[in-house]
Amino acid sequence: MNVLLPQAIESEAIDLLERNNCTITTAPDPEPATILPLIKDAHSLILRTGITITRDMLEAADKLMVISRTGGGLDNVDVAAASEKGIIVTSNLGVNTISVVEHVLSMVLALSKKLSIMDQAVRQGNFGIRYRNLPRDISGKTIGLLGFGRIGCGLGKICRQAFDMQVMAYDPYLTDEKKNECCSWVHMVGLNELLSKSDFISIHVPLTDQTHHLINDAELALMKPDAILINASRGGVVNETALFKALQKKKIAAAGLDVFSEEPVATDHPLLKLDNVILTPHTAALTSECVIRMATEAAQCVLDVFGGRQPQNVANPQVLESGRWKRILSQQPVPNC
Ligand code: NAD
Repeated sequence: MNVLLPQAIESEAIDLLERNNCTITTAPDPEPATILPLIKDAHSLILRTGITITRDMLEAADKLMVISRTGGGLDNVDVAAASEKGIIVTSNLGVNTISVVEHVLSMVLALSKKLSIMDQAVRQGNFGIRYRNLPRDISGKTIGLLGFGRIGCGLGKICRQAFDMQVMAYDPYLTDEKKNECCSWVHMVGLNELLSKSDFISIHVPLTDQTHHLINDAELALMKPDAILINASRGGVVNETALFKALQKKKIAAAGLDVFSEEPVATDHPLLKLDNVILTPHTAALTSECVIRMATEAAQCVLDVFGGRQPQNVANPQVLESGRWKRILSQQPVPNC
């Protein structure tokens, strides 16, 4: 079975695929023009974030059985087009939760303690900054979580337990069961209340039509002047022009951004000129440990499909109801695998 990698993945995952007799093709680059001729012969695709798999590409993908994302977000796959072609789409929700939680927490701490400003000042001989630009404690402050899924909930728990913070969350899709489970330590509120009462606002929603520019001028205007905004979800959730204005005019205190509307972010992007921003290149989940977990789990999803087993986290379970998949998933193992 042919596995196409638009971008290289970790050797542990390659070994796993090779041990299971897969033929692996790693594209020289993840450009659509490079991927299009290669996708024709692929039975599976293991996908990082460097390329968007569009309807046009899928038109050519007649042998494709499964698209397996190494991470959680599915905004770079046309899931509807894949479903129409009977292609299973899987993601790896949960595998990177703790790494993203740690990354966001490091931004909360670094911005509160003004680490990058202090570091620059010391290097420039400005030791006197210690009396003029005071850091802030996070203990006892309020963190507002926009999205209370795996990452939002994981972050909230640590903030509550380790720093005695108050935790608020906005997530209209949360089940009553989940709300009841957490009601002793998180206060579920409406979006406006969260924005106006939080000292830290951390975004953990997927990028969808509903969440595109969820944070815009009006939402930024509701935040406290000393609020710190962190976005480690997807760049498109925040209107970057509105954010730049709010940060420049000190309408909010600071921001930590791991994700951008265009990646890689342009070197002349206005946000790069501000000193009240910490920027990371979409690395929240890219720890040495997590990249191996994500790649091997994504490879395992592919092997599950090839082996006639239902993989974890199928994003389009309706596909499994088709005659093709019912037949395949009832044969153990599939011939030629
Ligand atoms: P998850 O599916 O467990 O949680 C997402 C939560 O957002 C769900 O509880 C859902 O109900 C909620 N939600 C959806 N639409 C909403 C809306 N309009 N308003 C408020 N809440 C809404 O996902 P997760 O594992 O917590 O990841 C969250 C997002 O973080 C992913 O979709 C992905 O885009 C991003 N992510 C980024 C990185 C990174 O490297 N920076 C890594 C992993 C995930």
